Amino acid sequence: ASKPGQSDLNQKIRVCVRKRPLSRKEIDKAEKDIAPTVGIRSIHINEPKVKVDLTKYVEQHSFTFDEVFDVDADNQELYQRTALPLVKYVFDGGKATCFAYGQTGSGKTYTMLDQEHGLYVLAARDIFALLKQPQYEHLSAWIGFYEIYQGQLYDLLNERKKLFAREDGKQNVVISGLKEFPIDNVNNLMQVFEYGSQARSTGSTGANADSSRSHAILQVLLKPKKNRKQITGKLSFIDLAGSERGADRGDADTKTRMEGAEINKSLLALKECIRALDQDKRHTPFRQSKLTQVLKDSFVGKSRTCMIATISPNQSNSEHTLNTLRYADRVK
Ligand code: ADP
Ligand code: MG
Repeated sequence: ASKPGQSDLNQKIRVCVRKRPLSRKEIDKAEKDIAPTVGIRSIHINEPKVKVDLTKYVEQHSFTFDEVFDVDADNQELYQRTALPLVKYVFDGGKATCFAYGQTGSGKTYTMLDQEHGLYVLAARDIFALLKQPQYEHLSAWIGFYEIYQGQLYDLLNERKKLFAREDGKQNVVISGLKEFPIDNVNNLMQVFEYGSQARSTGSTGANADSSRSHAILQVLLKPKKNRKQITGKLSFIDLAGSERGADRGDADTKTRMEGAEINKSLLALKECIRALDQDKRHTPFRQSKLTQVLKDSFVGKSRTCMIATISPNQSNSEHTLNTLRYADRVK
């Protein structure tokens, strides 16, 4: 981990934390942002915003991250310091991934995939602007949107058709049959995205996952106009499944327990893979989950990763918050 005040936007792996404000509902229930309260559990974000302290009774937990965003940070500010460097990087031929990790309700979707202000939209604006510049005129952007539920891939832009991942021998992971749409403006992107989002949370079969139980992956590929098979850059926005689901949660029914186990497995594998990358380990356990299998090409070679751990401000979630911070802390 980098030292306080030295957050380098161009590191291979960055780990950031974002705390959301109290919701209307929480305020109505008289819940408090446990920020600077002394004596009870508190989440306190220190200047220069690279430290999170979480005090649990007398026990104090202190973590250091590359960047911490307090309740007043909006998505635009986050974007500048998380996804924007990745946008530049993929135009330079790299592959980059931006994740949101955290318990359900902590702000993952708001951060990553909010219809109007999510990092994906802010990034797309800049991507479309760059594509108009002469040096990138030969490129076009394509989007794909799919989810991973119970170790299986589903195409959100094609009626949740099942998909299969394979490698092409050139260090690319190819998701066979994934529907990709060429996109060159924000309105178009939002339309396609909305269509996909509906597939994520609704559906007639009843087989769809609650969005908190699946990982959603929105990918933007840069390809030469003359060769759609070639990929010159790839940027993925990932809204991970809620991190609170676990074998220890006492889930009543078998289905929920299985989902929890699968989610745990994939989040664990994700952590292991990013750690291995950070330490330049020879063996990276990509095979341990579908999530890490499909992300393999975004981790090896010319790649960058930014993780945003999202946390809730209230006391009743402090145990989840601590777990999230511990996870994020071990990624790097
Ligand atoms: P998750 O995807 O982690 O389950 P959501 O993104 O759906 O959580 O956020 C839960 C609720 O909190 C939503 O109503 C969302 O609009 C709101 N919210 C989350 N983060 C923020 C934020 N930084 N600022 C304002 N509202 C937020
Ligand atoms: Mg969500």
